[in-house]
Amino acid sequence: MITLTINGETTEVEDGKTILQACLERGVDVPYYCYHEDIGIDGNCRMCLVEVNGNTDKLTISCKQPCGEGMDIQTESPEVKKARKGVLEFYLINHPLDCTICDEAGQCPLQDYAYRHGPGDSRFVEEKRHADKRVEFSDKVLFDAERCILCTRCTRFFENVRDSRPIGVCEMGGKSTITLGPNGKIEDPYQLNIVDICPVGALTSRAQRFMQRVWFMDFAETVCPGCSKGCNIQAGAYQGQLKRFEPRRNADVNKSWMCDDGRLSFDTYNLDDRVRGFRALGADATIEQAVAAVRKAVGDGAGVAVLASTKNTCEELFAIRTWAQGKGVTTLWHGASTWAGDDFLKQDDATPNTAGAVALGFVPVPADATAPRGLIVAGDVDIPEHLLDGLDFLVVQAPQVGMLAEGATVLLPGRTAMEKRGTWINHQGIRQEVRPALDPGAGVPADWALWRDLADAGWPSFAHLRAATDEALAGVVPSGGAPAGDVVETSA
Ligand code: SF4
Ligand code: SF4
Repeated sequence: MITLTINGETTEVEDGKTILQACLERGVDVPYYCYHEDIGIDGNCRMCLVEVNGNTDKLTISCKQPCGEGMDIQTESPEVKKARKGVLEFYLINHPLDCTICDEAGQCPLQDYAYRHGPGDSRFVEEKRHADKRVEFSDKVLFDAERCILCTRCTRFFENVRDSRPIGVCEMGGKSTITLGPNGKIEDPYQLNIVDICPVGALTSRAQRFMQRVWFMDFAETVCPGCSKGCNIQAGAYQGQLKRFEPRRNADVNKSWMCDDGRLSFDTYNLDDRVRGFRALGADATIEQAVAAVRKAVGDGAGVAVLASTKNTCEELFAIRTWAQGKGVTTLWHGASTWAGDDFLKQDDATPNTAGAVALGFVPVPADATAPRGLIVAGDVDIPEHLLDGLDFLVVQAPQVGMLAEGATVLLPGRTAMEKRGTWINHQGIRQEVRPALDPGAGVPADWALWRDLADAGWPSFAHLRAATDEALAGVVPSGGAPAGDVVETSA
């Protein structure tokens, strides 16, 4: 460990940390653009200047300078403040003042730093530099060369994280700009991450441009349901519609990244044709009538199988298992759904909680399985067609109206992955908190509450179910989120 002082306070810092990292870890506000903890250090933006050991003639860029024993670091001295103002004045000479139409407004470090550290006025009376404002980098990303501050985060993302160079810096001095490489476009399936890390609005997602101002949206910290990686995300919603998924940093799972397929799937959770209320034997029913119809059909459970989606949370799967055990149903299958994974984040398993289902005793449908007497389908799942041959009855719990839902003996409403709460276990065995980003509204009770009612189980609240699930999953410790009691329940 190294002992040093930051703004007069003595502190201990791990060996190998830079001054910027030491400051950020201690909540000391040092502005920066080009540094990114998952891309690395470059030292080009000159925004993170600090004073070291009283040297005011030559301030130090804190992102590149390792901490040293006995260092005296000042981040708010008059010389540092003056230098920051000067650097910001240079940035603002050419940066267009189009915040009013810029998607980055409200989440832009240039805006924030100009407010917190900037000169407050401009001495620049000349014409600003003009450049192309709509360069097609790909079918997903547009580049505004006027807004670019040349921090090179985008080029370094490809070089350092994706080991490719689809874009680079060309020209010199005031003509420097980001440009496409010989390929003429970016094809990387993770390219939308450069939109997140661009500190200004120079890179925008074509799918999300001008869609919604960030300050109008409500964000839920949850997990991408797209595959068993379980990338941590923020899901942004406006007036009951999802507008964006963005990665949320988790060093153990996805660092700061997510795949484009997962990111662009947000709109699939905005359902028009959702199941509301209950149906039994072809007619609308109350929850009591639906529960009675399920009980009558299942009887003593002989010949009945459950096929559960692995988009269900561990808590929901535990509730389903409890129901099945109480009814004598011993066949617990989980449904598979696959796509083409890759060697970065995306997994072949296109569902988020197969590991949770396996831990709770659900098994894949055996290749030689024959159709049961009755089938209970819990959640959004692909069903092998031969399982539907000659069924006496079919119970379907689904968020969306579909052919299967229409043919069900009993139809129960279900929630999408963006309306659920609980935990999923990813392919690494990490159990993560899932929080609702949308409220499905009336007629769609929480899945866990529905299975509780079907099971006549005595869980008065989600917290009680959570405790029972924790016991069943003893040893699989939830990580990366608030305890269940902190989650606000949507209409149940
Ligand atoms: S486009 Fe954005 S991320 Fe890339 S260099 Fe310019 S400001 Fe930085
Ligand atoms: S890798 Fe999987 S979990 Fe991560 S964003 Fe893509 S689909 Fe979602």
